[in-house]
Amino acid sequence: MTDFIKNEKNGVVFLTAPTITVRHGFTTRAGGVSGGNFASLNLSYGRGDPAENVTANYRLLGRALSINVFSAAFTKQVHGAEVRICTDADRAAPGDPTPYEADGLVTNVPGLPLLAFTADCVPVLLHDPAAKVAAAVHCGWRSSVMDILGTAVEKMASLGSVPADIRAAIGPAIGSCCFETGADVPEAIDAWLGRDAEKCYWPEAGAAGRFMVDLRAANRLRLICLGVMPENIAVSSECTRCAPDKYWSHRWAKGGERGSQCTVICL
Ligand SMILES: [Zn+2]
Repeated sequence: MTDFIKNEKNGVVFLTAPTITVRHGFTTRAGGVSGGNFASLNLSYGRGDPAENVTANYRLLGRALSINVFSAAFTKQVHGAEVRICTDADRAAPGDPTPYEADGLVTNVPGLPLLAFTADCVPVLLHDPAAKVAAAVHCGWRSSVMDILGTAVEKMASLGSVPADIRAAIGPAIGSCCFETGADVPEAIDAWLGRDAEKCYWPEAGAAGRFMVDLRAANRLRLICLGVMPENIAVSSECTRCAPDKYWSHRWAKGGERGSQCTVICL
């Protein structure tokens, strides 16, 4: 676990990771204009928050990060394993229809921000400062066990990146304190990680057939298997479900009205 750095600009609170040296950020709930169940920095359209509020939040986010998020590439998340190599042709504004499905984005285009969204799932940023390639990946458990990180590293390699040069940041997500599952998730992690998997989940005390899963640890182990150096991987220690005032949490909201945080990287 690594301490991420807390940043605040005009009320927008976001985290940065010590391993990533280009512009990037993991947002929190703080600093937006949305109200009620979406208070305040909601970055998700179509969940009941008026679109003009979401757009205003993007404006505030862009200013805080000094990144033009109105000309960016967005994940269209489907809990799959697709990773898209993005070019200038993918530039869009927040809320525009996304003509592809992809839970991971990779680029080597300077000034093209990559945006992924989470509310308990694991956000992962990858950056190769030597090859000048970046990735933003939405790692829910389904995408994780379908090896979306393996695909992301492979797509980065197609742009000249080597794993030993990759810096990684695994952001705020539901922790092993709160990510309770049935046997399906541990079984899928076994199939994905093999022997290493046993460090990533354990039986829940007093609940037969239920498990507590550390999805960030699983994704960290996978990155190490792929050749990323352990010292180049920062892992947030914060649980989104335990800190509902600071982060959006799907489980805390019980599937109801909630916003999304956003993870951004820009070469
Ligand atoms: Zn927790």
